Amino acid sequence: MDLENCVLELIIKNPNGVTNKMLQTANPTTGVAELVEVINKLTAADKIQIFHKGKQLVYMLKDPESVKHCKGADAEEKLIYQLIEKAGNKGIWIRDLRYASNIPQTQVNKILKSLESKKLIKSVTSVAASKKRVYMLYNIEPDRSVTGGTWYSDQEFESEFVDVLNQQCYRYLQQEKAVADKLSDPVSRRRASFKSSKDICDYINGLKVSKVQLSMQDIETILDTLVFDGKVEKSVIYNNSTSDEENSQKVYGVIKPLLSNCGLMRVPCGVCPVHNECRDGGIISPTTCPYMKEWLEY
Ligand code: SF4
Repeated sequence: MDLENCVLELIIKNPNGVTNKMLQTANPTTGVAELVEVINKLTAADKIQIFHKGKQLVYMLKDPESVKHCKGADAEEKLIYQLIEKAGNKGIWIRDLRYASNIPQTQVNKILKSLESKKLIKSVTSVAASKKRVYMLYNIEPDRSVTGGTWYSDQEFESEFVDVLNQQCYRYLQQEKAVADKLSDPVSRRRASFKSSKDICDYINGLKVSKVQLSMQDIETILDTLVFDGKVEKSVIYNNSTSDEENSQKVYGVIKPLLSNCGLMRVPCGVCPVHNECRDGGIISPTTCPYMKEWLEY
């Protein structure tokens, strides 16, 4: 079987998509340049589509419906459809569609309505594009950057939910440290106080505080906020001699800060976005400022 058919077969066998790494593992003796050439050939022949999944590219078989549609549509509709298809799971904004197609706004609107009614495309409100609507193919799952991921509901940031998860992760690591502190050997004590993101993820999902199943990536985002707050330490353990991210494990443990912040560092004015407008007797004033009051009471 030639390389083109080998790659196509691999893509057919993996409906959730094939990454570059999967391609290289399946064809260990083939060079990267040759694989890129085959991918370009298959894309140009309308056989496969390219999507973004996190930081990597994923190749999937092209939807036969879309190929069928392009055959029957008029030139303008076909062009708009192809531009939307090319935008993949990140979608495309109506203004970019207009510029790229050079078709007047009213005509673009008409085509979009027609494609939407045929359930060939859909519009999604994008968190990344300041809540503008972007268009993508109907059967495509929008990218995390469009939906905002787990922390957004109806395009609104769920700050309370994030706070609860933040507290639960921290509490879990505190509990584990308390158990580990009972060990006499200092090395075992330190090791036992660190938990992997997988362990923490399993624990949080077990608490059922979230309606959706949280992924390890979601939990690592929460844990990173604890690291930035100086409450938790993060280490990466590599499972073999390579520094390959896929063969590594992130572990987290609570830490006691060596120094507590001095009072001056906690003054709210240092990070206040309206400090330029703050003056005695003004609408924004230190005498009425709730943050200043809270700091003085601290
Ligand atoms: S007193 Fe309050 S409003 Fe004024 S600069 Fe400080 S934090 Fe901002």
